[in-house]
Amino acid sequence: MRDILPDEAARWRAVENVVHQVMQIFNYREIRTPVLEQTELFARSIGELTDIVSKEMYTFVDRSGDSVTLKPEGTASALRAYIQNNLAEQGLLTKLYYLGPMFRQERPQAGRLRQFHQFGAEALGAMAPELDVEMMLIPLMIYRNLGVVQTGLLINSVGCPRCRPPYRELLRSELRKIRAQLSVDSQSRIEQNPFRVLDSKDESDRKATRSMPLMKDHLCAECSAHFVRVQELLKNLKISFEIDGHLVRGLDYYTKTAFEITSRDLGSQNALAGGGRYDLLVEELGGKPTPGVGFAAGMERLMMVLEKQNIAAPGAAGPKVFLIGIDRRSRTWAFETVCALRARGIPSETDYLERSVKAQLREADRQHAEFVLVIGEEELTTGTGKLKEMKTGKEQAISLGTFAKTFS
Ligand code: AMP
Repeated sequence: MRDILPDEAARWRAVENVVHQVMQIFNYREIRTPVLEQTELFARSIGELTDIVSKEMYTFVDRSGDSVTLKPEGTASALRAYIQNNLAEQGLLTKLYYLGPMFRQERPQAGRLRQFHQFGAEALGAMAPELDVEMMLIPLMIYRNLGVVQTGLLINSVGCPRCRPPYRELLRSELRKIRAQLSVDSQSRIEQNPFRVLDSKDESDRKATRSMPLMKDHLCAECSAHFVRVQELLKNLKISFEIDGHLVRGLDYYTKTAFEITSRDLGSQNALAGGGRYDLLVEELGGKPTPGVGFAAGMERLMMVLEKQNIAAPGAAGPKVFLIGIDRRSRTWAFETVCALRARGIPSETDYLERSVKAQLREADRQHAEFVLVIGEEELTTGTGKLKEMKTGKEQAISLGTFAKTFS
């Protein structure tokens, strides 16, 4: 878990602003859910056998004896809120987005933190493949607007309860034949979660599973038509993509479309965002049968890419004006004037440490103040002072009596 220090926070805010803007462009409305949920919510949605639920959640028993968990992802909470608050009553299609911290007790490495931040969206109530494509377009537009280049889009179909079980059996029996060539982790997954063997990061697993049958080649007619349509739509929009039959994703709730957006500027954890369709999840969580599709994208990984691609962070804005008092009376004037400027919405600063004029000037410079005004006994007596622009060194005479009211 790491701190986001003031120097970085300016960039975070700039990125968050772009996220809010793009979500508005696509007509999604923000939802803010609690940081804690009942543990059962995640076990039921993400799946008991996934890495997230089986070994990564921050779960504890609270003082009333309930098992609660810091949310490891945003979809389950958004759907819980959608069901609990009857958001479906507000319209046939509900479009939600969120931004916030998530928690997974993973092995820390580059691009993997235990508290990280995601933005994401969910569209609930329609089967349309157009929405699957929309979920890819949103993060792609956010990246493009930030100036990120060279992102990749990988898509796959993970089928549905009709076509998946027979394929699972086929895959399992094929994997059993090559068991000896697989890593220990993958061997243990053959029986419980054979799909995960296909997206193992282990090099020898990758080689061994290269010729395994893939879900995309065993889809039922409905899933196949959906997958074809998603590809058509992407082609018509001239969005380049690759089909990756090994893409599975680490959450059990996906049906039909699954996708990832990758960046070469990330190391082995190269996914910037991921998402897919989850047509059974709302019902699974106790709501009415409602198809849905969504995506989630990592903020920290996006920050890594912005840095790698040398995309300038917005400079932290300093105070507009720094008022420097020389003695007791002028310090009081400076403080009161700063208060009046701030009341008018003008970022301004003064000294609180009784520093020398020289030290205050240095401080104003360090804080990138745009103007400084030095006040002493003489200025207070004559009622005029010299306002200095730091960049050019230019000075102009101003009247102290009207300064707070007229400075802009
Ligand atoms: P997921 O919720 O696992 O589908 O992840 C979606 C995105 O969230 C990933 O593509 C990453 O960008 C980001 N992400 C997931 N887990 C972590 C983590 N532990 N640390 C940092 N970013 C993460």
